[in-house]
Amino acid sequence: MPAGSDLSRQPPWQVLASRLRGRLLLPGDREYEQRRRVWNGAIDRHPPAIARCADAEDVCYAVKFCASEYLAMTVRGGGHNVAGLAVRDDALMLDLGIMNRVDVDPTARLAHVEGGALWRDVDAATQSFGLATTGGFVSTTGVGGYTLGGGVGWLMRRCGLAIDNLLEAHMVLADGRSLVANENQHADLFWGLRGGAGGLGVVTRFTYRLHAVGDVYAGVVIYPVDAAHDLLRSFRTFTPEAPDALTVMLVFTTAPPLPFLPEGAHGKRVVALAYCWSGDPALGAGAAAPIRECAEPLGSHEGVAPYAAWQQGFDPSAPAGDLYYWTTSQFDAIDDAMIDALVPRAAEPADPFCEVHVHHLGGAVARVTGDATAFSHRDAPFFVNVIGHTNAAERFDAVHGWVRGFRGALAPFARADMQPNFAGEMNDLIAHAHGSTSRAKLAALRAHYDPDGWLAPVRAG
Ligand SMILES: Cc1cc2nc3c(=O)[nH]c(=O)nc-3n(C[C@H](O)[C@H](O)[C@H](O)COP(=O)(O)OP(=O)(O)OC[C@H]3O[C@@H](n4cnc5c(N)ncnc54)[C@H](O)[C@@H]3O)c2cc1C
Repeated sequence: MPAGSDLSRQPPWQVLASRLRGRLLLPGDREYEQRRRVWNGAIDRHPPAIARCADAEDVCYAVKFCASEYLAMTVRGGGHNVAGLAVRDDALMLDLGIMNRVDVDPTARLAHVEGGALWRDVDAATQSFGLATTGGFVSTTGVGGYTLGGGVGWLMRRCGLAIDNLLEAHMVLADGRSLVANENQHADLFWGLRGGAGGLGVVTRFTYRLHAVGDVYAGVVIYPVDAAHDLLRSFRTFTPEAPDALTVMLVFTTAPPLPFLPEGAHGKRVVALAYCWSGDPALGAGAAAPIRECAEPLGSHEGVAPYAAWQQGFDPSAPAGDLYYWTTSQFDAIDDAMIDALVPRAAEPADPFCEVHVHHLGGAVARVTGDATAFSHRDAPFFVNVIGHTNAAERFDAVHGWVRGFRGALAPFARADMQPNFAGEMNDLIAHAHGSTSRAKLAALRAHYDPDGWLAPVRAG
């Protein structure tokens, strides 16, 4: 059983600081306060120090320092993980935020991306060549955690999950050794990196396959919440047959004062049909018509847009620093009883900022065999994310309760496991983020590549 971090004595921080090209931040530094905080304002932890790694050598040195000082580590990529996996009270944080370089090889259609980049960094670099790869629905999500957890997004049904486009990872293991993992070298590790949700080493550089993606036809169509039953029934019929170039989402939300909505709708609970067609933009206008036309919309904003611009469209709905708690469930079907369980809860949230996102998979995601990567349940046709969100601390308990109640209400219709990227807390991640076969394989990999558990999300003992 591994020993925990020994924080009864101060590690020789000045030794680490003197060797890093990036800065070492200690409690009291102004920048420390900024970097210890992650996207979810409900996470309030104080690591003993933060190593702002400037490059792979910094990562390597910081990891060796931890091993020699019996210190656990966390890795901060984009800091978006809702359970706050990037920060612990008893672990040195390796902050990769300044390792955000993206090199594009347009001829080979490859992007080499440093481990701390955000999706907006990748999109900006690849889109100038008319190329892209699957990234998150929000552009400020980190490439690192997102990819290690699988990575769903607007392009997934045409291009696959992020992990299906991952060709290689440059890594530093928990003992400080550097290696490259791909299909031919350390293939076991490469399997676990693709959907295993981290904890196998620090990825300093990801290499992704790119696809031709320029303009997309995309938009949102907003309906009164009374249309929810019709929209969900239409969604379940249409999406299994939808072309790969189309990804659709139904979002239960509270209407912001958008210029294309009548004033009477502002602040009301609504359902938004959001979609992205990444095929020929000229053919996009009717792509979501079967769902779009099943009810009378309140307003819409649709048209041709550069992919990278569409990719940033939802950023304002996810402000950093607010309080969040999420859960997620996967479904084989959306039947009437499941719709009856979902709609009233989605229509009456504990806070107006709370949302419910109804997604489909299929397409290229479902064509990869289930055991090819550690991402379990890629064959699930539907998943639902319940997004607890408030900016008022006094409402957070109620929001938490709403999310857990929602999860319980959907449980009779759902598969037992969940996608790791949307697990709202550590217990869910440990117990439910993978099917039992993947879970056992991942445990064996972690025991082999990090036997002392220095990178494990929670330390035993
Ligand atoms: C607003 C928002 C939108 C989102 N949208 C999507 C979406 O569309 N699709 C989707 O699949 N997920 C989505 N997510 C979930 C997101 O992918 C996960 O929360 C993911 O863990 C975030 O990665 P990060 O690097 O930003 O987070 P962090 O909190 O920095 O890291 C998360 C975990 O990954 C590890 N990690 C990060 N980088 C590295 C690295 N380079 N090497 C080794 N370990 C690393 C960390 O140690 C930590 O355990 C979204 C999250 C948010 C907050």
